[in-house]
Amino acid sequence: MSTPDDIDPKLAFTVATVWREERITCPHQDLLQSFLAGGIDGGAADFIAFHLRESQCPYCNSVVEDLKARDDQARRPQLTDLRDKLLRSTATALRGKRA
Ligand SMILES: [Zn+2]
Repeated sequence: MSTPDDIDPKLAFTVATVWREERITCPHQDLLQSFLAGGIDGGAADFIAFHLRESQCPYCNSVVEDLKARDDQARRPQLTDLRDKLLRSTATALRGKRA
Protein backbone atom coordinates (compact mmCIF):
# COMPACT_ATOMS: atom_id res chain seq x y z
CA MET A 1 0.00 0.00 0.00
CA SER A 2 1.37 3.40 -0.97
CA THR A 3 -0.03 6.88 -0.47
CA PRO A 4 -0.82 9.04 -3.53
CA ASP A 5 1.07 11.95 -1.95
CA ASP A 6 4.41 12.56 -3.59
CA ILE A 7 5.53 14.89 -0.82
CA ASP A 8 7.73 13.20 1.74
CA PRO A 9 5.77 13.64 4.98
CA LYS A 10 9.04 13.96 6.86
CA LEU A 11 10.14 16.84 4.64
CA ALA A 12 6.76 18.57 4.90
CA PHE A 13 6.98 18.27 8.66
CA THR A 14 10.46 19.81 8.66
CA VAL A 15 9.39 22.78 6.54
CA ALA A 16 6.38 23.39 8.76
CA THR A 17 8.51 23.14 11.87
CA VAL A 18 11.13 25.56 10.56
CA TRP A 19 8.41 28.00 9.49
CA ARG A 20 6.80 27.84 12.92
CA GLU A 21 10.13 28.26 14.65
CA GLU A 22 10.92 31.28 12.52
CA ARG A 23 7.55 32.76 13.31
CA ILE A 24 8.12 32.41 17.05
CA THR A 25 10.41 35.45 16.89
CA CYS A 26 7.73 37.49 15.10
CA PRO A 27 6.26 40.36 17.09
CA HIS A 28 2.49 40.22 17.45
CA GLN A 29 0.40 42.21 14.98
CA ASP A 30 -0.68 44.54 17.80
CA LEU A 31 2.97 45.29 18.48
CA LEU A 32 3.59 45.98 14.82
CA GLN A 33 0.64 48.36 14.79
CA SER A 34 1.90 50.18 17.90
CA PHE A 35 5.33 50.33 16.31
CA LEU A 36 3.85 51.95 13.19
CA ALA A 37 1.96 54.42 15.35
CA GLY A 38 5.18 55.27 17.15
CA GLY A 39 3.88 53.90 20.42
CA ILE A 40 6.90 51.69 21.05
CA ASP A 41 10.43 52.73 21.92
CA GLY A 42 13.57 51.30 23.43
CA GLY A 43 14.58 47.69 22.95
CA ALA A 44 11.19 46.57 21.67
CA ALA A 45 11.28 49.16 18.88
CA ASP A 46 14.84 48.14 18.06
CA PHE A 47 13.81 44.52 17.90
CA ILE A 48 10.85 45.20 15.61
CA ALA A 49 12.90 47.49 13.36
CA PHE A 50 15.60 44.85 13.13
CA HIS A 51 13.04 42.14 12.48
CA LEU A 52 11.43 44.09 9.63
CA ARG A 53 14.51 45.67 8.03
CA GLU A 54 17.44 43.35 8.73
CA SER A 55 15.65 40.01 8.90
CA GLN A 56 13.22 41.19 6.22
CA CYS A 57 10.62 38.83 7.62
CA PRO A 58 8.14 38.39 4.76
CA TYR A 59 5.29 37.67 7.14
CA CYS A 60 5.70 40.76 9.32
CA ASN A 61 6.49 43.02 6.37
CA SER A 62 3.26 41.96 4.70
CA VAL A 63 1.41 42.59 7.96
CA VAL A 64 2.96 46.06 8.12
CA GLU A 65 1.99 46.72 4.49
CA ASP A 66 -1.53 45.62 5.39
CA LEU A 67 -1.69 47.91 8.41
CA LYS A 68 -0.35 50.84 6.40
CA ALA A 69 -2.90 50.25 3.65
CA ARG A 70 -5.68 50.09 6.24
CA ASP A 71 -4.36 53.31 7.75
CA ASP A 72 -4.45 55.01 4.37
CA GLN A 73 -7.99 53.84 3.81
CA ALA A 74 -9.03 55.16 7.20
CA ARG A 75 -7.52 58.54 6.37
CA ARG A 76 -8.63 58.78 2.76
CA PRO A 77 -12.40 59.31 3.19
CA GLN A 78 -11.81 62.69 4.85
CA LEU A 79 -9.63 63.83 1.96
CA THR A 80 -12.17 62.52 -0.53
CA ASP A 81 -14.94 64.36 1.30
CA LEU A 82 -12.99 67.59 1.18
CA ARG A 83 -12.19 67.17 -2.50
CA ASP A 84 -15.81 66.35 -3.27
CA LYS A 85 -16.92 69.49 -1.46
CA LEU A 86 -14.41 71.58 -3.38
CA LEU A 87 -15.46 70.03 -6.68
CA ARG A 88 -19.10 70.52 -5.87
CA SER A 89 -18.68 74.14 -4.85
CA THR A 90 -16.60 74.76 -7.99
CA ALA A 91 -19.25 73.13 -10.12
CA THR A 92 -21.92 75.21 -8.41
CA ALA A 93 -19.89 78.35 -8.98
CA LEU A 94 -19.41 77.49 -12.66
CA ARG A 95 -23.11 76.74 -13.07
CA GLY A 96 -23.89 80.03 -11.36
CA LYS A 97 -21.69 81.92 -13.81
CA ARG A 98 -23.21 80.21 -16.80
CA ALA A 99 -26.79 80.82 -15.74
ZN1 LIG B 1 8.21 38.22 11.48
